[in-house]
Amino acid sequence: MKLLHIAINSNYFSWNGQIYKQTEGCPMGSPISPIIANLFMQNLETSIIPRYDQIFLYRRYFDDCLSIVKQGSEEIILTSLNEFHPSIQFTMEKECDKQLPFLDIHLSRTTNETITKKVYRKPTHTGRYLNYKSYHHISQKMSVVDALAYRAIKICDEEFLEEELNHIRGQLRQNGFPICFINSRIEVMKTRVNQGKDDEEEVPRLILPFMGPLTTRLTQYLRRRLGCKFGFIPGRKIGSILCNAKEKQTDNPPGIYKIICSCKKIYVGETKRPYTVRIDEHFKENENNVRKKMKREELKKNPPDRILRSNSQPKSQTANFYDYFGENEDSQSQCGSSGVAKHLMDNPSHNIQKDNTALIESEPRYFHRKFKERLYISKSKNAMNPAFNIRRGMVINPTWSSLLLPLTRSP
Ligand SMILES: [Zn+2]
Repeated sequence: MKLLHIAINSNYFSWNGQIYKQTEGCPMGSPISPIIANLFMQNLETSIIPRYDQIFLYRRYFDDCLSIVKQGSEEIILTSLNEFHPSIQFTMEKECDKQLPFLDIHLSRTTNETITKKVYRKPTHTGRYLNYKSYHHISQKMSVVDALAYRAIKICDEEFLEEELNHIRGQLRQNGFPICFINSRIEVMKTRVNQGKDDEEEVPRLILPFMGPLTTRLTQYLRRRLGCKFGFIPGRKIGSILCNAKEKQTDNPPGIYKIICSCKKIYVGETKRPYTVRIDEHFKENENNVRKKMKREELKKNPPDRILRSNSQPKSQTANFYDYFGENEDSQSQCGSSGVAKHLMDNPSHNIQKDNTALIESEPRYFHRKFKERLYISKSKNAMNPAFNIRRGMVINPTWSSLLLPLTRSP
């Protein structure tokens, strides 16, 4: 209960540079909200519906309710439902010409007082579906026909089914689907529903990015070895490239970044903090190293008297003194953890300007960041990281890297 309380109340969002707290209702976009909303509605229903004998049937799907009530009692019931909570206000739509839509079902009352069902489409429905020529996996095109056919078969009374299927055929033809493709999928769906196989069995589902024939081949290969189903994520759509209604959170996100040296070698790194903070650290680390080096050189030229005087063997003791400052130490520990600092120490004539640093990709997720960092390191022919062997990043199975590297852009 305590966790639930935290999940519901830690509910902030930013708008126009300001941070707001949502004070009313379930958190927007939270996976917990539909569950809470459903519990609330169930509470409302169990306390109100049983009070009325005039309600003959009551069904609800999320926020859509269907009810058959005694004529004349609609307003009293509606008022009662609306009094339950000021934020939950119902509106009512009565049947018109003995017809009423509910979700995507068109209900009609017949003269002998039975109810018939067929598919309902909103007047604003455009008939636009995924175009057959679209760059998508064939299974996604199949599923467009399957979903429409399945809905028709499940919802329509027999007398309306052929009319609905013809409507689907016409609309899909307009979206570029070949008629033989449509008909064969409709037959598959009819058989599936008749045989009662329409409830898909629970098998693991693997989601792959769709990249044309490569994905098809990979899927065939994996399907033979793994007993799972496959889903595909298509590439970015033009709409998502052109506009994004969501406010950009920051122009300084965590992710994978690069630092280019004057010798054109590239350092690829990743950070969970704003990337410029990490880049500043690289520069500070280098400044510290330069300062230490200058100090060491200064000491070499002018060894401190005290140490020489307090020792019986001045020569060797002086050498130990330099050891302490790391002159003979492994240069990796001397330079801290960064390949950048080490590279600059080893090549004093090289330099790095802040303008030559950039974010390659923002990525807040830990595993994804590590994975991509390693891909970019492997991709870059000029990378400092592998050459200096300070931190090579996570190890990727060669099966994946050989497949993914040709698709990875250079950092
Ligand atoms: Zn360099």
